Amino acid sequence: MKLINGTEIAKKVHEETRRRIATLQARGITPGLAVVLVGDDPASTAYVRSKDKRAAELGIHSLKHELPSSATQSDLLALVECLNADPAIHGILVQSPPPLHIDEAAIVRAIDPRKDVDGFHPVNVAKLALDDPTGFVPCTPLGCQRLLVEAGVQIAGARAVVLGRSMIVGKPMALLLMAKGSGGDATVTVVHSRSRDIAAITREADILIAAIGRPGFVTADMVRAGTVVIDVGINRVDDPTAAKGYRLVGDVDFDAVAPKCAAITPVPGGVGPMTIAMLMANTVTAAERCAA
Ligand code: NAP
Repeated sequence: MKLINGTEIAKKVHEETRRRIATLQARGITPGLAVVLVGDDPASTAYVRSKDKRAAELGIHSLKHELPSSATQSDLLALVECLNADPAIHGILVQSPPPLHIDEAAIVRAIDPRKDVDGFHPVNVAKLALDDPTGFVPCTPLGCQRLLVEAGVQIAGARAVVLGRSMIVGKPMALLLMAKGSGGDATVTVVHSRSRDIAAITREADILIAAIGRPGFVTADMVRAGTVVIDVGINRVDDPTAAKGYRLVGDVDFDAVAPKCAAITPVPGGVGPMTIAMLMANTVTAAERCAA
């Protein structure tokens, strides 16, 4: 069994990103990323902090906007409009989920698609579905695809099963793996909460992507020997022995499943670091396109 080390592969992506930033800077361009946080959800605050920190480390001009949870839809729309018009900002990210009174879809639609480095705008969703490479692909599935490529996994012709159909992970993941060409050409099945006999489907997978948000959902009997498993799940489970009182686990029962796999990602240290790495890469792509 091979452990796919997301931390190491993310470092490699960051090195590429650093080189691309240096090329832009030689032309007097500094990529700019605006990260918007509404409210004080602890997980979102931590995500925003690490995105901001990583951007600054790489030499990206990083602008963090923290709005109180009382911020209104029009406050947020006004900020997005301002960022759309700001030539120093190439990428805009509004941390999900915003407070319940905010219409998140309307906020995403307000972002200029050329600055939508999260890849959630309908224009970018359509471009992914159309195999149009001029859009932005959501960072987590893009990171999963990169992990497979870096691990030398044969994707073309493989039977890939994606557990989950969210717009953030499952659906774009399926589109990426079924797209024509490099990193794609798989035969893809998508499983969701209404699917019947999930274990029979997952047992057919050469590549299994788990993104459902249920700790340890994928058990050893659901995986056949030699499968490559990418565990997207990040779930908190109580652990009185841990300093914080909890630990993070994936959607896969790692200890039981790993011995059967050809390769598997750990949690943490698998997909997580790749999401940030692809966000930084998307931001640089936005700046390069703007400068072209
Ligand atoms: P989500 O929006 O809640 O979607 C979950 C998907 O799983 C839905 O399609 C749902 O089906 C399906 N599902 C739920 N329970 C199921 C069950 N018992 N059997 C079959 N399908 C089931 O979650 P998400 O945003 O995609 O995130 C999924 C996981 O990935 C979470 O643990 C999240 O924290 C993690 N995540 C990690 C990263 C990262 O950077 N590593 C990034 C994003 C998300 P229905 O559509 O039928 O409801």
